Amino acid sequence: MRTVSHWINGTAVDPAADGRFAEVTNPATGKVTSRLALADAETAVAAIASARAAFPAWRDTSLTRRVQILFNFRELLNARKGELASIITAEHGKLLDDALGEIARGQEVVEFACGIPHLLKGGHTENASTKVDVHSIRQPLGVAAIISPFNFPAMVPMWFFPMAIASGNTVILKPSEKDPTAANWMAGLWKEAGLPDGVFTVLHGDKVAVDALLDSPDVSSVSFVGSTPIAQYVYERASATGKRVQALGGAKNHMLVLPDADLDLAADAAVNAGYGAAGERCMAISAIVAVESVADELVAKIAERTRGLRIGDGTRGTDMGPLITAAHRDKVAGYIDAGEADGATLVLDGRSPTPDAEGDGFFLNPTLFDHVDTDMSIYTDEIFGPVLSVLRVPGYDEGVELINNSPFGNGTAIFTNDGGAARRFENEIQVGMVGINVPIPVPMAYYSFGGWKNSLFGDTHAYGSEGVHFFTRGKVVTTRWLDPSHGGINLGFPQNS
Ligand code: NAD
Repeated sequence: MRTVSHWINGTAVDPAADGRFAEVTNPATGKVTSRLALADAETAVAAIASARAAFPAWRDTSLTRRVQILFNFRELLNARKGELASIITAEHGKLLDDALGEIARGQEVVEFACGIPHLLKGGHTENASTKVDVHSIRQPLGVAAIISPFNFPAMVPMWFFPMAIASGNTVILKPSEKDPTAANWMAGLWKEAGLPDGVFTVLHGDKVAVDALLDSPDVSSVSFVGSTPIAQYVYERASATGKRVQALGGAKNHMLVLPDADLDLAADAAVNAGYGAAGERCMAISAIVAVESVADELVAKIAERTRGLRIGDGTRGTDMGPLITAAHRDKVAGYIDAGEADGATLVLDGRSPTPDAEGDGFFLNPTLFDHVDTDMSIYTDEIFGPVLSVLRVPGYDEGVELINNSPFGNGTAIFTNDGGAARRFENEIQVGMVGINVPIPVPMAYYSFGGWKNSLFGDTHAYGSEGVHFFTRGKVVTTRWLDPSHGGINLGFPQNS
């Protein structure tokens, strides 16, 4: 069976035969496709040492050269994205088109990072004091650790590593154990693009690898994406050793539908954003907040569209693929049981799926609940599966209050034709990314991605100018060249003249 190995110092490292391994499965067939090396503490130390050793030379590599390598990476990625999409579909289960979509969104960040010379430009002030000049520079931090989730094995790492590498850091990527091969494929691409060995490392593993990165004094920053409890843990543990941390957590994304909305557009959006990638997107809509007067009509439109969806293997032109593991499929099915027991109206029950797939994949059909209350577990918990809940409210104010009471604040959307209502929503809603008649408002690469509340620990969002800021620190230099008129002793605090 194929082994997925660590990538250290520009080469795949064969794991010890008596080491720990995990199985990697194709979720559409249920078949184990490879075994993954799980790092022990020694392997983590070797990976960190290699990244640390590569830092001084990379940090001092000219911006011109760095940009050429980024450009090469972009060109190779664009030319060979089909290979990467196939890897993603085989290990994650999402449709090939969807896999290409995540690569395209990651590629946008690579393209943004190609503009790093402009983004790193500091300021310069001549004659701040008489014959004294001041300028500012931003310098890389050192070794950047990136710990990523299963649901976007290419895009989420690309939210961080282009910015980290472009600004002169070296990177250790610790991918999800569930779909690790995309990381190795990207490591090979970096090598082909001309990146020096040691600048991009892939360390596979579980808590052992993560904890080694969080505790190492040779790691300068941690960018984490995953569930809220682990994000909080990572934030606290890595901050305790003085690292810079951005830890993006889980979500419960609401879509508020006002009576004047185009209900066909809203129903299309709810189905696309709720069931796309089997609901395993951090920006998926999972709670529809419908104003009572249009709720019946909206639920009927969502149900009608959902009944037509084709479930199955993502390589077969279906609409929705499997869940990531059998355990996760069972957990999501357990939430459907709980929603029914709690008294929500089960409009569509996904527990008896009929997928177009070979073997024994981890499928559920899309599920739709109506009359959901805020104390039911199908509402309070992040389900991360194809389960949409409809909550009914009397009007706009109650809808906003419901959304603002959520402990999560990743994404949200309002559907309305009333510009005044949309403008109020934009102003009042306590969520980091807002869509107006747009259900999955993932910001472009030149803005920054991140939620509020339990959806982000730390204060810096991913990519865009905040990404540049996260991976660099500022320095201000005050300069005076020899001038005899400024000599003499003065023990007072420096003042400008
Ligand atoms: P996860 O939290 O289980 O795993 C994320 C990473 O943490 C993985 O690399 C995993 O190996 C590691 N990890 C898991 N348990 C650990 C532990 N006990 N100690 C140390 N490290 C540990 O998340 P997942 O299931 O892979 O991904 C789904 C979650 O990610 C969802 O909650 C989703 O909302 C979230 N997510 C959030 C965003 C965002 O932008 N906010 C984006 C994508 C995914």
